[in-house]
Amino acid sequence: MTKEEIIAFLEGVDDLWLFALAQARRTETFGTDIYLRGIVEFSSVCRCQCNYCGLRAPNAEIHRYQLTEDEILDAVDELASLNLPTVVLQGGEDPSYDVATIGRIVRTVKARHHMAVTLSLGERGREAFSHWRDCGADRYLLKMETMDRSIYTTLRPGCDFDARLAGVRTLQALGYEAGSGMITGLPGMTIESLADDILAVTALDLDMISAGPFVPHPQTPFGAEAGGDPQLALRTMALLRLLNPKVNIPATSALETVRAEGRKQGIDAGANVLMFSVTPAAVRKNYAIYPGKNQEPQTAFQTVENARELIRSMGLVPSMSLGGSKVARG
Ligand code: SF4
Repeated sequence: MTKEEIIAFLEGVDDLWLFALAQARRTETFGTDIYLRGIVEFSSVCRCQCNYCGLRAPNAEIHRYQLTEDEILDAVDELASLNLPTVVLQGGEDPSYDVATIGRIVRTVKARHHMAVTLSLGERGREAFSHWRDCGADRYLLKMETMDRSIYTTLRPGCDFDARLAGVRTLQALGYEAGSGMITGLPGMTIESLADDILAVTALDLDMISAGPFVPHPQTPFGAEAGGDPQLALRTMALLRLLNPKVNIPATSALETVRAEGRKQGIDAGANVLMFSVTPAAVRKNYAIYPGKNQEPQTAFQTVENARELIRSMGLVPSMSLGGSKVARG
């Protein structure tokens, strides 16, 4: 697909055709299966200053929490008891969870359960990535958010685009299923730069790619910026599916936040993964990357049941598998 064709689809030349084709591509690879991932967001502490994120270190207005090792393991145990064999352990870049602690948690999860473990802990360096892989971690999400260097610099002051990209490469070299992703509708982004992003993220040869709309957080420097158009995010997901037929693509929670039935529409646009928070209800709403995230008060059981029901209502099957990558690796 050429950049010009991508731009035309991003501009909405034929959504019906685009989404139908994306669904057909997904079916070719995954059949009727939709994978489920429970996310345990164990720390809302972060040392970074990303200009779009409510967890950024200078934001003194949010309540910070840190789960203990036992609380994290309890949340994973609950997920396992619901027959959901994949967990994402996610947090801000919080150095108080050192390399050994995370490694011990991963080892314990792998010893207790037949479960795939995804880590999403930011840039922690090759030594940490390697140790956690040795401990049994299967997947790692390290989102670029944009592949445009100049936009990246405005997003993440003090962070280096090349270092983050090198981090993705390191994860791949260590044998992780590597995931990354983008935010659509970021300040400074144009349709043309988004088309470049789609092509650039495709060239990374990833196992998972996410795309969700920018949701401005009022307690950040980007708080007064316009939010991203959810339709543009859906088109981006569909284009990613066409260009990357075998990758895992989640229907993001950001989509659901900005549009009713956003997750359903994400599946209709070619997504094959539903991810949802199973962070303990007492702290879940404080993982406030953007406003409106994690406001659901229900238990993990209800969350998982709701996800399964949504999938069934679409004539699809909530998969009980580990939901591994289908991307062929030589
Ligand atoms: S986007 Fe991630 S790294 Fe940046 S401030 Fe938020 S939690 Fe921290």
